[in-house]
Amino acid sequence: MSFQNPVFIPGPTNMPEAVRRACDMPTLDHRSSAFADILHPALEGVAQVVRATEAEVFVFPGSGTGGWEAAVANTLSPGDRVLAVRNGMFSHRWIDLCQRHGLDVAILDVPWGEGMPADRIEAALREDDGRVRAVLATHNETATGVRSDVAAVRAAMDAAGHDALLLVDGVSSIGSMDFRFDEWGVDVAVTGSQKGFMMPTGLAIVVVSAKAARAAEGAALARTYFDFRDMRAGYAANAYPYTPAVGMLNGLRVACDMLLEEGLEAVFARHARIAGGVRAAAAGWGMELCAVSPDLYSDTVSAIRTPEGFDAARIPPHAAERYGVAFGGGLGEVAGKVFRIGHLGMLTETLALGGLATAEMTMVDLGLPVKLGSGVAAAQEVWRQGAPGVAKEAA
Ligand code: PLP
Repeated sequence: MSFQNPVFIPGPTNMPEAVRRACDMPTLDHRSSAFADILHPALEGVAQVVRATEAEVFVFPGSGTGGWEAAVANTLSPGDRVLAVRNGMFSHRWIDLCQRHGLDVAILDVPWGEGMPADRIEAALREDDGRVRAVLATHNETATGVRSDVAAVRAAMDAAGHDALLLVDGVSSIGSMDFRFDEWGVDVAVTGSQKGFMMPTGLAIVVVSAKAARAAEGAALARTYFDFRDMRAGYAANAYPYTPAVGMLNGLRVACDMLLEEGLEAVFARHARIAGGVRAAAAGWGMELCAVSPDLYSDTVSAIRTPEGFDAARIPPHAAERYGVAFGGGLGEVAGKVFRIGHLGMLTETLALGGLATAEMTMVDLGLPVKLGSGVAAAQEVWRQGAPGVAKEAA
């Protein structure tokens, strides 16, 4: 098929034409002043999107996983203890990465579908004898569609009087949902280019507080490619310590411009509005979300529980083969129990309606007790009442 439907996976997302064009540029000497005109606005744009004023922004070739590694390898030493909540596949993978780096991970397991328990984090830190060097927080657990309260985690750390670093995975939240680097006292925030920034995969984006930068001076884990110090020295000379992905950085510059031109509040409101319609559709199908309570509902991805006895893993391949539309499957503990609709990045109500209608057809095809139109109509009722959610292309 030569036509391309929008995707409804929770990243990579649909891309605005302006961002695609910006990534696709002729070769440019990455040691020329023209590169500086791309690099610095891109870094500044990221800082604005995460609402950081003093922090440093480092953009590595890579993906979100590279950002996890950069966060950990730069700030910690072998044997350091980190405290991490595991409430889904991505928090699990970050824990695994830490363990493979020789860190001692104290894991707070919570049922998948729940958020980060600030009270348990506070209790664990109160009991700590000074060994915990970092708290790992997954702002939006993409596997379960759960948004946790990072401000509450910071408050718990402060209440315990603990000076650990707060390392936050914002991979599926930054650029789509409210993220406040300064206000929440985040020390390192991590994301990738292919979610809220609406770009192709290929950049690991890392925001670093002054406290984390100080920790990086004494940290002893091995690092070369992701070394903040080399990158800082490179940026001071308008360059990289290696060959940069110039087109991707140009795309990032334009993506930030688009988000800031639409206005962060408007971007977040658009995501919230679209998510509200998707949730109404799930209710219209008689299905519940994996996220256990409304305060945890993610505005970027909904993990929808299918009826007991049905293998939800059948939904994405059927939708792909029959209708050419991509949805996400369940991961880890919720594999076969949920399917996921991604609703982030370049998306409007109108595009989302196509996704909901396709999900409905797929479920009817597979014999689920879903009535055609039931979810779509529920979403239409929500969106009919909202303001138009048209994403503006940057000039
Ligand atoms: N963290 C979260 C919350 C994610 O959703 C993902 C990917 O979907 C990652 C980390 C890993 O990022 P990447 O696949 O870009 O390496």
